[in-house]
Amino acid sequence: MISSIKICLKAIMALIMTIVVGLTSGAAGVSSTKTPDEKEYEQVKNVIYFIGDGMGPLHLEKAKQERNIKLVMDTFPYQGRSMTRSLSNKVTDSAAGGTALSSGIRTYNGAIGVYMYDPIHIQSNPKSITELCHENGMMTGVVTTDKTSGATPAAFTAHSTARNLDFDISAQQLNSDFDLIWGQSSDYVTKSKAEANGFTFVSTYDEMMAVESGERSFAQFDSELWHVNQVNAQTPTLSQMTMKAIDVLDDTDEGFFLMVEGAHIDKNSHSNIDAGMTEALDEFDRTIALALEYAENDGETLIVITADHETGKIVLNADGTYSFTQTSHSDTNVPVLVYGSDTFIEDGEVLNNFEIPIRIAYSLGFDETQFPSVTVKF
Ligand SMILES: [Zn+2]
Repeated sequence: MISSIKICLKAIMALIMTIVVGLTSGAAGVSSTKTPDEKEYEQVKNVIYFIGDGMGPLHLEKAKQERNIKLVMDTFPYQGRSMTRSLSNKVTDSAAGGTALSSGIRTYNGAIGVYMYDPIHIQSNPKSITELCHENGMMTGVVTTDKTSGATPAAFTAHSTARNLDFDISAQQLNSDFDLIWGQSSDYVTKSKAEANGFTFVSTYDEMMAVESGERSFAQFDSELWHVNQVNAQTPTLSQMTMKAIDVLDDTDEGFFLMVEGAHIDKNSHSNIDAGMTEALDEFDRTIALALEYAENDGETLIVITADHETGKIVLNADGTYSFTQTSHSDTNVPVLVYGSDTFIEDGEVLNNFEIPIRIAYSLGFDETQFPSVTVKF
């Protein structure tokens, strides 16, 4: 009796998933002239995936104007846009946005790497690009200025029905096989728990710099990681964390996957703090400049820069200045900037957010049977 109910539920779930998958791939067909499986992707060894949380196109313009700077992001050879909506809302949050960018599927706001229409969890979770890379022998890591259990790093390292389940997300990260998880300290991560699963525990700049190539590490820094200048000698900046992370992960012939999040573009945009947003964006761009230098020398590294959503709905004023017009996320399309592949995106192309990790997977030599895992598997 119970088993026949379960079989029946599975059949219903299969039907729902068929419809959902059909709908989402239909949407992709409308917005994108070519689907990933119809074109050849230039093959790369390493991927550095930058996510400027909350970073819309006018965030770049505002930062350039107010800080009187040029941005390395503007020099990227291929520039397109991403449509960021989630499956549940026109305006996404960082959890659903992060899941689209990590797993190649759309889900509901608040969801970390889980399907929307699977409330009793009949299906296995959608595979993240991080998991795909790890399973295939690549080194994998995430670096963020947010707490390590924040929605964006969580979407790349965990699966949870709710983004605020910090305990669950941290436990999954601590029990994971990923090589490097670095960010602001999270309530449930302790040195002993990290060491129990073979991570070297790091909490200062000196300890971070002492991590050796190929060594697995879990970093918990204090809360001021995002500033351009260190607030104390033991607090690394985003660029310091990122360059050290590349150094640690660039250790095998299989290559590495690194996600880097600049979380404070979003946080300062929520509070409409101009100077904070532009400082965070400046440091994000400085980090990209260093990664670009690495990629130019390496010659086998793909850099993809995007955002999970725009925050603050910045507008261009009549006097030529830029202003925030709200304190929440918006549905504005966000930049997709690419270096290291001539086939990843066409200049000016507009894609769905979930297509980005799919194209990353294709660029790493994976195919449609491996990613995304949207087919129902019982
Ligand atoms: Zn936000």
